[in-house]
Amino acid sequence: MDIQIKNLTKTYNNRKILAIDGFHIPSKSFLGIIGPNGAGKSTLVKIIAGLDTPSTGCILYNHEGLNQRINRNMTMVFQKPYLLRTTVYNNIAYPLKLRNINKEEIHTRVQKIIGEMGIAGLQHQKAWTLSGGEGQKVALARALIFNPSLLILDEATANIDPSSIYAMEDAIKCYYENNHATIIMVTHNIKQAKRLCNTVAFMNGGVIEESGTSDEVIYN
Ligand code: ADP
Ligand code: ADP
Repeated sequence: MDIQIKNLTKTYNNRKILAIDGFHIPSKSFLGIIGPNGAGKSTLVKIIAGLDTPSTGCILYNHEGLNQRINRNMTMVFQKPYLLRTTVYNNIAYPLKLRNINKEEIHTRVQKIIGEMGIAGLQHQKAWTLSGGEGQKVALARALIFNPSLLILDEATANIDPSSIYAMEDAIKCYYENNHATIIMVTHNIKQAKRLCNTVAFMNGGVIEESGTSDEVIYN
């Protein structure tokens, strides 16, 4: 999905916390967003995901405004999994149920993704019994199962164990390479941004101060 940000601002209590005159995220980008706490990263990606509204300006998705078709085709994974109080299987199946996909196909697709992510053994477990890393893997599986053309990750691997981080990175990389998706990843982990992203934007004080290839933006 091609994303064009135009004259975007966000103001909270008379304080402007985002001001992005123009920024283009071409289709099939894997963009990392880095920068200090309070830079406006989360607010920006929430607005891109359609979960928050800008004060002024707009975002175009494949040259169109936000509509239902686009809305159904993008998803976001947060620092916490926000799972439903049911099994892992039902959590991952949920986006497909919402799309009225039949039970057989749901079953096939759930088994495929949990196999790929190495969490097949968890499928009957209740969401509230999972570890932090397991919960994030389930949240990622639930995000990937409907083949989003835009995947947004906001610190999705922060605060989980290293083996879960690598499992998630592998799943994200694999998804990126096998689909024509655009991925936007907010991360504090500079090494992770270098491992995964093609392009990186450095935000500070509500603006994008620098952007380019990860080698241009991240020194060493
Ligand atoms: P980052 O993700 O880079 O840490 P955020 O987008 O979370 O930054 O926040 C940017 C700024 O906006 C911060 O100063 C934060 O306190 C402020 N902010 C974020 N959300 C709200 C809100 N709902 N109400 C008031 N201020 C907010
Ligand atoms: P409901 O439609 O009421 O949510 P489901 O039949 O979807 O009920 O699921 C009931 C339980 O059975 C779920 O908790 C899930 O773990 C399990 N389950 C359902 N379908 C499958 C399946 N095809 N393979 C493995 N487990 C399944």
